Amino acid sequence: MGRYTGPSCRLCRREGIKLMLKGARCKTAKCPIERQWRNFPPGMHNWRRGRGSEYSVRLREKQKVKRYYGVFEKQFMRYFRMAERGKGNTGTTLLSLMERRLDNVIHKLGWAQSRSAARVTISQGHIYVNARRVTVASYLVKVADRITVKDNERSKKLIRARLEELGEPQLQNWLRMDMVKLEADVVALPAREDVQIPVEENLIVEFCSQ
Ligand code: SF4
Repeated sequence: MGRYTGPSCRLCRREGIKLMLKGARCKTAKCPIERQWRNFPPGMHNWRRGRGSEYSVRLREKQKVKRYYGVFEKQFMRYFRMAERGKGNTGTTLLSLMERRLDNVIHKLGWAQSRSAARVTISQGHIYVNARRVTVASYLVKVADRITVKDNERSKKLIRARLEELGEPQLQNWLRMDMVKLEADVVALPAREDVQIPVEENLIVEFCSQ
């Protein structure tokens, strides 16, 4: 199945939470989740739908995470298998892997308005990790990685303009940024409390383990 190209807000309405897919608009009163008269699931007869079966509750938790980070089903299952093989709680490891994606990091640094905008920025070659160009949005950052902007005026101007538009980001403890040099360091791996989306990861593990 190809990438979803329909209305982004529809996805948020389906999950009932703000997935922050539209950048600056998500923080305004125009967001349908903020408006009582639009904050209901899409489709006809939605008022008839109750909480749903156990299966659908677990499915929704998985879809929430997939849509928030903008990954395909196949990619998501690859992360799940990696998390299963890793040490520690599978659900927490899964969320930590998703947080470590380069597109997520670039969005968190305020270098792109949304994760999808970050993917475009990365694929256009504006981002370097440890002095090497990375054009793959799914690159997983690790401790001691240094993320920089391509050393040319056009790239730096683009990122500075975005920082100006979005304002200084409230960075979590696992990331550090030098706003002047446009450099960021990964100082730790993201912990469970660094994941901002409200999700019950144990339900995702149950769903994917079936
Ligand atoms: Fe639309 Fe953003 Fe609000 Fe989601 S959070 S409903 S994408 S404006």
